[in-house]
Amino acid sequence: MDIIPVSIPERAKNEREYVLRALDNNYIGSVQSKDKSIRFIDAIEEKFAEFVGVKHGIATTSGTTSLHLACRTVGVGPGDEVIVPDMTIISVSNAVFLSGGRPVFADVDKDTWCLDPKEVEKRVTKKTKAIIAVHAYGHPVDMDEINRIAKKHKLYVIEDVAVGLGALYKNKKCGSLGDIACFSFYSNKMINTGEGGMVVTNDDSLGKRASMLKNLAFSDDPMERFIHKEIGFNYRMKNLDAAIALAQLEQVDKFVNSRIRNAKLYMERLKDIPGITLPVEREWARNCYWMFGIVINEKEFGMSSFELMNYLLDKNKVKTRIETRKFFYPLHKQPAPEYQALKEPDELFPVSMRLWEEGMYLPSSNLLTEEEIDYITSTLRKIHKENKQR
Ligand SMILES: *Cc1c(COP(=O)(O)O)cnc(C)c1O
Repeated sequence: MDIIPVSIPERAKNEREYVLRALDNNYIGSVQSKDKSIRFIDAIEEKFAEFVGVKHGIATTSGTTSLHLACRTVGVGPGDEVIVPDMTIISVSNAVFLSGGRPVFADVDKDTWCLDPKEVEKRVTKKTKAIIAVHAYGHPVDMDEINRIAKKHKLYVIEDVAVGLGALYKNKKCGSLGDIACFSFYSNKMINTGEGGMVVTNDDSLGKRASMLKNLAFSDDPMERFIHKEIGFNYRMKNLDAAIALAQLEQVDKFVNSRIRNAKLYMERLKDIPGITLPVEREWARNCYWMFGIVINEKEFGMSSFELMNYLLDKNKVKTRIETRKFFYPLHKQPAPEYQALKEPDELFPVSMRLWEEGMYLPSSNLLTEEEIDYITSTLRKIHKENKQR
């Protein structure tokens, strides 16, 4: 391989068997068989909810559609504001816009890179309807604080656990801490089915409503099947994807442990290089280290994060190229006109602005070898040595 990619998906042992069972029995779509052994959507919904420690699982097509579904399930609509972190994937704020609401950005914590509860509190207004708490790069949000603010102002808490699967908050699984939670099974996530997702909730009426909205708001009553009382979506997962998800879930502890092992190896080797800030793990948290993020101080390290990314991709400078990714571009700065119309000033978001400049993540595949980590970390050390005098 001439490049170490940021992430390579790992296949699970039983995927092939389950997929072939679905295929051979002609149940590949979202309609379920009478035979329980072929009903992978039902199985993944039940087993996944059990894994998170909540009552209901609603299988969907992606993390993005899960977020839209969750927003509509709790009733986000025109006139509502939803507080979201300024540094996260655009799916989060798009879900609010697509629901007819207005995203309100809050700055993130400089160490955990997650929503900062003090910033959330400052942005609550009479119009606030919900908070989307995004567990960032594997570290949980300080959920007790978020839940305290939500309770005080009667807000819904939607967790985005797309990259927090396997993370713990005070020994509880992320995804079990708010009113409703969204997961992604995209190729680089902890459980990967190519594309896919899941909404979970402990609340019976939210669970029922999410299932109904995910399926075009068809009625349960066969006589009224084509009578729709509101606008729903087709966000139904396919049986083929559910078959893969189930096989993946069977091995999820192993997958999570691989990421944690990677992080430990990285930290031992990087901790004494000046100008590199490593990820944290608060005393109340277990970080699942979905991606191994670092923050580069240009002066101390000798090169900016942007220069470092280019250097690592330059065939003339490194033996094997190393793929990395920047942290997210601040949402309040997105050029899409809907975002620009919000006119949120940079001064409100010093941390997310700096993390965009300085933050990046290193290769983090489950199957990354210790030799590859040695190579990546010694390359960073060499670059620092050669450039620190600048
Ligand atoms: C990946 C991701 C999503 C979107 O998931 P998709 O399945 O790619 O749509 C949402 N939120 C976060 C935090 C993510 O990392």
